[in-house]
Amino acid sequence: MISFDGALEIVMGRARVLEEEQVDLRMAAGRVLTQEVCCDMDMPPFDKSAMDGYSCRHADLPGPLRVIETIQAGSIPARTVGVGECAKVMTGAMVPQGADCVIMVEHTEVDGEGRVRFTRTDSAPNICYRGEDIRAGDVVLRTGTLLAPQHIAVLAMAGCVRPLVARRPRVAVVATGDELVEPEQTPGPSQIRTSNSYQICAQMEQAGAQVTYYGIVADTEAAIDAVMKQAMAGNDVLLLSGGVSMGDFDLVPGVMAGNGIEILFDSIAIKPGKPTTFGVGPSVYCFGLPGNPVSTFVQCEILVKPFLYALMGHQYRAPHSWLPLAETFQRKRADREAWIPVECTTDGGVRARTYHGSAHISALSGAHGLLAVPQGTTVIEKGTLVRVRSI
Ligand code: AMP
Ligand code: MG
Repeated sequence: MISFDGALEIVMGRARVLEEEQVDLRMAAGRVLTQEVCCDMDMPPFDKSAMDGYSCRHADLPGPLRVIETIQAGSIPARTVGVGECAKVMTGAMVPQGADCVIMVEHTEVDGEGRVRFTRTDSAPNICYRGEDIRAGDVVLRTGTLLAPQHIAVLAMAGCVRPLVARRPRVAVVATGDELVEPEQTPGPSQIRTSNSYQICAQMEQAGAQVTYYGIVADTEAAIDAVMKQAMAGNDVLLLSGGVSMGDFDLVPGVMAGNGIEILFDSIAIKPGKPTTFGVGPSVYCFGLPGNPVSTFVQCEILVKPFLYALMGHQYRAPHSWLPLAETFQRKRADREAWIPVECTTDGGVRARTYHGSAHISALSGAHGLLAVPQGTTVIEKGTLVRVRSI
């Protein structure tokens, strides 16, 4: 049995970045950039008014000043502002030559002769100067960036309309277990619905994978072998749930080995998810996840997601926050690292949720995050600042 950090290191060490492809800007969110993006122009590209107001020479304030023209956003000023003059400008418009400030319209009044008098003269210049945000040629996005909506804006600004991104990993999801039925069915007396299947699909899609669900397979070598062969043909990653523990019908690791998959570990000192198995074949990576849905959820979050992102060239940092523990946490055994579902309290802390173990899926669905309790730790005192991983 290896530590979780050891397992993560093995998994990450095996990830090879997939090929790149070009996508339209509209399809780029959630993808990982494989190119550096430079801006092709200064931003702002001209001295730009930050206000609706009057552009003039600060030395001429408080006026009255003669209005020589009105400049809309998108038009080019026709005149240079001279002594005793101003030009009306709109937000986003070019500031005319000669002017060194823009006074907001709220701080002005127009006299009977149409001249502008300024009621306040202590204002900031209200000009966004050419190139103050970005200089032409500056790198604005780096390789490995996971593209969120705010990065899409930067791509658009830079005119990068077909960015190069990593191909999405093709992930096969398989549920194993004779006791399982699909959610639309009513389980018989000894059966349960598969909750893993769609949870895993959703988690992997959240991480940008292209997922194919291969359904439920029976606990026989022949059935697992057939689906594994089929899944290996068209996917980069296989995720099987169930069948990796010590039971008589836990046949997944044997079938993995029989298909040329070298098993790199078959248990981790972690709770939940101890029997998590990982192997690598000639053209496929394979995770054998434990059957219980809380275990698969946690392992998909902490082990599989960082791996999927690594396949796309992105170094994943899970969102987290540091919060005070609202109630002392205690456990009897500390031989494994534990990941505990926690909930936020109304006063800004967190506490462990009532949790009966790794089949208790509703404990997880009401949780705001996961708390990692290190191996060897039995007690975390109330008030301790703990790192909570958002889910
Ligand atoms: P296993 O890892 O196959 O020994 O399964 C461990 C436990 O998880 C058993 O109680 C199974 O019934 C349950 N289980 C296995 N697969 C699933 C699944 N897809 N959805 C929900 N529970 C499952
Ligand atoms: Mg099973």
